Amino acid sequence: MRALDSRKGLRNEAMAVYTTHFVIITTAPMSRIPAPKGATPLKTPKPMTVRQPLLWVGATGALLLIMGLTLSGQSELPPTNDHSSYLQTPLETATTETTPLDTVPVPIAAPAPPKPMWRDFTARDGDNLSLIFARAGFSDTDLYRVAQANESTSLQRIYPGETIGFQADADGALLAVRHIQSPLLTTLYERQAAGYTAQRVTRTPDRIARNVSLMIDSSLFLAGSDAGLSDAMIMALAGIFGGVIDFVLDPRQGDTIHVLYEELMLDGQRFDDGPILAASFTNRGNTFEAYRYTDTEGDTSYYNELGVSMRKAFLRAPLDFTRVSSNFNPNRLHPIYKTQRPHRGTDYAASRGTPVYAAGDGRVIEAGYTRPNGNYVFLQHGEQFETHYLHLHRLRVKKGARVKQGEVIGTVGSTGAATGPHLHYEFLVNGVHRNPRTVHKILPKARSLSDAALPRYLASIRKPTQQLASLRDAQQLARAQ
Ligand SMILES: [Zn+2]
Repeated sequence: MRALDSRKGLRNEAMAVYTTHFVIITTAPMSRIPAPKGATPLKTPKPMTVRQPLLWVGATGALLLIMGLTLSGQSELPPTNDHSSYLQTPLETATTETTPLDTVPVPIAAPAPPKPMWRDFTARDGDNLSLIFARAGFSDTDLYRVAQANESTSLQRIYPGETIGFQADADGALLAVRHIQSPLLTTLYERQAAGYTAQRVTRTPDRIARNVSLMIDSSLFLAGSDAGLSDAMIMALAGIFGGVIDFVLDPRQGDTIHVLYEELMLDGQRFDDGPILAASFTNRGNTFEAYRYTDTEGDTSYYNELGVSMRKAFLRAPLDFTRVSSNFNPNRLHPIYKTQRPHRGTDYAASRGTPVYAAGDGRVIEAGYTRPNGNYVFLQHGEQFETHYLHLHRLRVKKGARVKQGEVIGTVGSTGAATGPHLHYEFLVNGVHRNPRTVHKILPKARSLSDAALPRYLASIRKPTQQLASLRDAQQLARAQ
């Protein structure tokens, strides 16, 4: 009994060593670990010999040392006083475990077991676990045992492109399975005495502070792309300023944008965009600033330099500005409407199919078709406000539906009295048409941080405020030269 227990103990210890190995392995790019298909798993040490080799190493080492000395005497090797040099020659052909003899007084640690090799398989379309296990040479029984590991196992959902890795013991029996869900998340299934256990191994990318300055030549989208920003980052930027800037009609050549953001790195390589921490947009001489801030409740949002929320009740441009063909000479007055007096809305020339957004939270009060309007949607926002969207190609909402700001309600088209694809957008206050371009001046103020919360916020933006200011200064200096 006792012998069995100690054996078990040693076995667990050996498993623990593998666990450590795995964690180390996962801090390297997992997907790039060479794992040739069909490779023979490395032999793992038998549990009982984990501590025994120490004696063996000492004995053989001493023997080899003698042999080495003898050999060096007999061979053509030049005589030397450097022990290490003539020790190496015979040792290489014998065993490397004798090297601790060079540093005799140091306590000899247990030799690390060789790393059991991972064999990785990529899940394909139409794959299932049974197929993947079979490809790896394991059975449905193995799969069943692994799947028993945990009730909320990651293996219940496998997506194409994910990696399933297998580790076998010396006898070829399944030792561990790893499910690499993303570069940041792996679930590891390991065989223990009582069956498999599941463990989530997560990685945290490094965050690197970055900044970028853009000058607009034609559009935010092109300026951002030219500066190497991802589409997602450009959309995030547009989202932050979407309540104060109409990215279709407002930008002018020479407008400048400065962004402080984070880049997420894994193993020294760019992994993903981090959040935008702060940004300033200078549009025709007016500078708007936005700072990312997490309040004491844990809510994260963007505020201007005075602590007023950047999220307004209405978007300035109710459509995907990246799909608008030209930012500087939009076909403001459509030929047909030019003859109407007065033109009661704003026209956005955009390609057919461009997503049209709800300008604010509200309810669909009309969604249908008339000959002048084409396909149209009317939204009600609270008691006072209505927004109208005409000439849509397709409607995406039905009368009575609730919509959130930014939700797609339809797509740009040229239905009704329109000769080309554009969005005709109207804004009504208490039933009266107002100019959507200027109505924002009379809308209720956006939410502000409370007086009590303001000091903490202002302290948090002191540094990014200075950074943005110095980026603006540097750009002005560069422009002056
Ligand atoms: Zn119009």
